[in-house]
Parts: sequence; C-alpha cells; structure tokens
Amino acid sequence: MTAAQQTIHVGGEWRAALSGATREIIDPVDATPFEVVAEGGVADTDDAVAAARAAFDFGAWPRTPAAERAALLRRVAVLLERDRERIGALESRDAGKTLQEGRVDVDCVRDAFRYFADLVENEDGGGRAVDAGSDEIRSVVVHEPVGVCALITPWNYPLLQASWKIAPALAAGNTFVIKPSEITPLTTVVLVELLLEAGLPLGAANIVTGPGDTVGARLAEHPQVDLVSFTGGLVSGTKVARSAADSVKKVALELGGKNPNVVFADACSTPEGFDTAVDQALNAAFIHSGQVCSAGSRLIIEEPLRDRFVAELSRRAELIRLGRGTDAGVECGPLVSAAQLARTEAYVASALAEGAALRAGGGRPAGPGYFFRPTVLDRCHRGMRVVREEVFGPVLTVETFRTEEEAVALANDTEYGLAGAVWTSDEHRARRVAGLLRHGTVWINDFHPYLPQAEWGGFGKSGIGRELGPGGFAEYREAKHIYQNLAPRPVRWFAGTTAKG
Ligand code: NAD
Repeated sequence: MTAAQQTIHVGGEWRAALSGATREIIDPVDATPFEVVAEGGVADTDDAVAAARAAFDFGAWPRTPAAERAALLRRVAVLLERDRERIGALESRDAGKTLQEGRVDVDCVRDAFRYFADLVENEDGGGRAVDAGSDEIRSVVVHEPVGVCALITPWNYPLLQASWKIAPALAAGNTFVIKPSEITPLTTVVLVELLLEAGLPLGAANIVTGPGDTVGARLAEHPQVDLVSFTGGLVSGTKVARSAADSVKKVALELGGKNPNVVFADACSTPEGFDTAVDQALNAAFIHSGQVCSAGSRLIIEEPLRDRFVAELSRRAELIRLGRGTDAGVECGPLVSAAQLARTEAYVASALAEGAALRAGGGRPAGPGYFFRPTVLDRCHRGMRVVREEVFGPVLTVETFRTEEEAVALANDTEYGLAGAVWTSDEHRARRVAGLLRHGTVWINDFHPYLPQAEWGGFGKSGIGRELGPGGFAEYREAKHIYQNLAPRPVRWFAGTTAKG
C-alpha cells in the first residue's frame, strides 16, 4: 500500500479503503493514469461520519472561541500561499486547467478562508438582543453550528468548491466529512492535510474519496449528518435532496446553469466597446473549456449586430490555443473525462441535426486527450436541446432578439437561474434588465467575477441556498432564541387551577 492510496482521513488517521479498492486518476491531457487513490465505500463513510459526530458532540472544535477559529482559518490561508505553486500545478493536472487558472483557484481559496475568518471574528459574540417590549424580559438570538456537515463537490473547481463549504463550516464551529469528485479528488486531500497542519483538532475534518452513488448517497441519507451541502449537476442534486428528506437534514444545493450573455448593439457602438464585448463573450463561454457552472454558454445578441459579432467571435475562438495547462502559451485545457467529451460531441451533433450553423470548432483536434475545439453554433433557438440543457463543454450558442422585452424573455427562458450578463452603454437599460433577470448573479458589462463577500447561488433549478457572503455563512448555523423571564410569575391562563394555599 503506497501512501498515495491512503486518501481517506477518518478521526485523525489517513488510511486506505476498508475494502482495499483503489481508483486511478486520469490525466485528461493524454488520457493516462498518473495517481491512485482509495476508493471508499459505505463502511468508510459510516466511520467518517462517526468520527465527525464524536468530534462535534465531545470534541474541542465546536467549543473553540470564534477568535481562535478565525486564527486557524488564517493559518490555512498562509499555508495555501506557501504551497501555491504545488497545489496550482496539481489542480491543473487533475482538472485539466491551465497552470495560471490553477494558481488563481488557490488564491481564491485563500481569499475564502480569509473572508470567513473576518466574518466570524467581527461578529458580536453575545448574539443579537431582541426588544421584547418589557424590562422583565431578556431576549437574545445566538447562532450555533449546525453539527456534522456532509460536503459533496464536483470536478470542475475541486479545490474552490471545497473551500466555499469547508471555510464557512469550520468558521461556524462545525465538523465535516467531505467527498470530492471521484474524478478530481487530489487537491481536496491536500487541503485536508493543510487543515491538520494548521492545527485543526483531529476528527473535525474527515475525507472519503469514492464514488457518488455509494459514498455521496450514504452521506446524504445518513441519520447522523445534520447538513448536506452539495455542488454538482441537477440529476445528482435532486437525488441528494430526496435522500436527505427522510432525516430532515438541512440541504444546500449548488447546481448547474444555462447562463445568458445578453449583448445590446449600443455596447458595441465604438471599436473599443465591440472588442471588449467580443473578448468577454469568448471568456464567458470558453474559459476552462466551458466547464464552468456560470459559463456564458448562451449568447443572446441584438439582431443587427449578430453577423459582425459572431464572425469576430468565431475568428478568435479558432485561435484559442489548446494543450497541456503547464505548457507555455496554452490558453485552454481539455475536457475532464472521456464521458464529458462524448457528452459534448453528442450535444454538438444534436444541434447540427436540429439546424444550427457551425461557425467555429465543432470537433476534436488531432492527438490524444479529451480536447474539444471551442465551438460557436449560430442560428440557435429554444427548441434545441443544446440551448436548454447544460453542455459543460466549450460550446456557445447564438440567439437573437429585436426588443429589450424579447431579450429579457429569452434570458429568463431557462429552468436554471445561476448567472447572466447584460452588455449595454445605456445605464437605465442596464438597471432595468438587471432587475428583471431571474438569476442569482447578474453582471453588467462584465462576465464571471464573483466576490467572497457576495452571495453565490441560483434561482430555479440552479439550487437551494447560497454560498459565500453572510448568507453562505448562515447555511452552516442554527439560530437559537434565548428568552429569559427576569420576573417569573404565574400566567393564570387556566383560571380554575390556582395554587393551594
Ligand atoms: P455530478 O452531479 O456528477 O457530481 C457532483 C458530486 O456529486 C460528485 O462528488 C459526485 O461523486 C457526487 N454524486 C453523484 N451522484 C451522487 C448521489 N446520488 N448522491 C450523492 N452524491 C453524488 O456533477 P459534476 O459532473 O461533478 O459537476 C458538474 C456539475 O456541477 C455541473 O452541473 C455544474 O453546473 C455544477 N456546478 C455548480 C456550481 C455552482 O456553484 N452552482 C459550481 C460548480 C459546478
């Protein structure tokens, strides 16, 4: 047994799967295995939950003062800075992103830890006093950790998505079991190592590497788990919600998106405006090969601008340099797996069969790995699967509108509601449209940035609850109202039951 296969951490001990099963981790650039991890199962999951339960019920972490919890989170941030290159490179290899993206991810993870450290430290520890309308009543609302948190994460931003859950969970004083995606578990294992190095009490952080339908499903249904926070696809998310219902645990779901990027012609009335809108549309759709929950995969453009815009966008899409993320000059990596590649190919084939016009890409480049060329599909409409469903690949569809009302209606015509953007030089229109879009994040003349201080999450089938910001922190806490009567006396509701003299 090599150390590499001991990727399950339970109650302070690194170990292999109880069954001895392992899984190869595939480098998506050349489709070859480069690492082996433990393939945990239900028994490993039960052990991990028991450890997290004991650490919550009897351990030090939930009883650690907020300032000390904040200090630990800050130590993790420092360790992330120390190991930035190593972790960034590992994320790049595991998830098939560029090294620069891997580095940025580590920086964002560090910022998440710092943000939640600040949030918990700056809180009034005494709780929120409530005016009960009487000097004889002392009423206060305090916040306590929820308990044992099950954290389930996807493969596209493995470390970042883990941090959006781990940092607030720990800041609030919870213990947790995390199950990273079986496709990209490596940096989450490293993050747990850093938590331990920073001094987190044993048992507070547990990890089980393994598949969703065993480890993930067991976490979601487990009666000893108080909260499940899941980021992933709609199909798995609904299963998680169903499994969690029997034990009435708290559920937070961050699911997919089919995100509109609405471009009005006035945004492109100058050469600079045109260049910026095209550049950002490219970025919106193709960064990380479109494997982004908030990818701007639906370009919704004002009709008279369409031909010029799509021609330039397609020209630039053809120039995107694909390759290994650590190689100089590479701008985009491959898709994460053979399954994801096949899925993308199927969506493009269906779009072409349904009448879409191919303007760029459309297939795989020569050579090994799970690469797919950035693809622009013009003349699309809502009747097409590729416009309604999340592809999670480098595929941009183009729809057009003639009026503002039509633009808003198209942008909201999705079962999802994660993110969307509006491009316009008209400030009034920008506010109007932003106000009407039914999406959890709306960008005006931008695409993709998020802030740790601002809530992230979706309307509709994009999820339940929020991550980041005070709202994201609130998911990991229970509110408790403590009502103290300073002058207790009988209420005499039952008038015939006076005390015996
Ligand atoms: P996925 O749903 O296949 O898997 C996500 C995680 O759930 C994995 O760890 C997987 O093992 C686990 N899982 C699978 N079936 C399960 C089950 N029955 N019970 C419990 N856990 C189960 O998603 P993915 O393919 O890894 O990630 C891509 C999806 O994630 C996309 O839909 C994307 O939009 C979404 N996503 C959303 C956000 C967001 O912030 N809203 C962020 C990143 C990714």
